[in-house]
Amino acid sequence: MLKTITLSAGHTPNGETGASANGLHEEIINIQITKKVAELLRRHSIPILEVPDDLTLVQTIAWINARASQIDLCLEIHLNAGGGTGVEAWYYQNLVTKADDIESKNLATIVCETVAEETGWRNRGAKGESTNQHGKLGFVHDTKPLAALIECGFIDNVSDIELYKTEEGVMKIATGIAKGLLAYIGEEWIPIPTHPPEDLNLQKKIDELNEKIASLSGLINQVKDRQDKLSDAVDNVKKDTEEIYKDRDEIVVIKEKLTVIDGKVENSSAKQTTIETNLKQEIRSLKEESEEDTNIIFRRIKILEEKPTVLGEGVKIITFGKWLIGKFTKQGGEK
Ligand SMILES: [Zn+2]
Repeated sequence: MLKTITLSAGHTPNGETGASANGLHEEIINIQITKKVAELLRRHSIPILEVPDDLTLVQTIAWINARASQIDLCLEIHLNAGGGTGVEAWYYQNLVTKADDIESKNLATIVCETVAEETGWRNRGAKGESTNQHGKLGFVHDTKPLAALIECGFIDNVSDIELYKTEEGVMKIATGIAKGLLAYIGEEWIPIPTHPPEDLNLQKKIDELNEKIASLSGLINQVKDRQDKLSDAVDNVKKDTEEIYKDRDEIVVIKEKLTVIDGKVENSSAKQTTIETNLKQEIRSLKEESEEDTNIIFRRIKILEEKPTVLGEGVKIITFGKWLIGKFTKQGGEK
């Protein structure tokens, strides 16, 4: 059957305050450690009673003794002071015979060992209450259940106080105490589950992917900027192209006109050639005609010269012939 453990944080805030140094107050840190120890033990399903924080030492002892039948052991948590370092714990003694209470001494011994192991502090060991400066310790001596009192480091030691300053440090002290209490009652310490390596790797990968996503978003924005610039450039090219097309259309119209003009020029030159050819032909035939006529005339003149009796006729014919010659000579000159 599981044992019921009672935890008490030494001293009382706003009342019986403990040691203070380096801006730290013992009663405050005692409460922080005690709460963590209770939390760790409850995680192991150990029944826990916590003495209310606002009780004085006398009230604390009375509170515990009122519940003595349901409590198997009790531990009060303190910080040391006075120029030292490390962890120590006090146990019950017969103040007359100075005989040690073996169970109380075992409990004190074990928690000292586990706290020293967990914190790396020097283990000052278990001490009988009679060797205390007061000759006895009320919490250890006057409580009915088995009891011990642990001093977790020195509040006036610059090295020891480092653990009081962080939650991790306080947790180390509490873990040492919880492990000691579990060991004493024969229960196994169950490690606090941490993320398995796969989860850590997964988280690392997720972090890496998130970084990549962030850098990709940057790239995407750069690409978008470039796309905007490109589409502006494309718009400009389209406008230029439209103007070029307009110019080209005008050029096509001009070319068509030029083709028409070329055709007309060809036609007119062909016509000119035809006219020239016709004219030449006409002139040639006229020349032939005139040459023939001239020959006729010359033959008649010869005949007339051979026949002077018909001189009168001959004169007329000569006159006509001269007129003809004149006519054709004139035309030939115009050629
Ligand atoms: Zn104290």
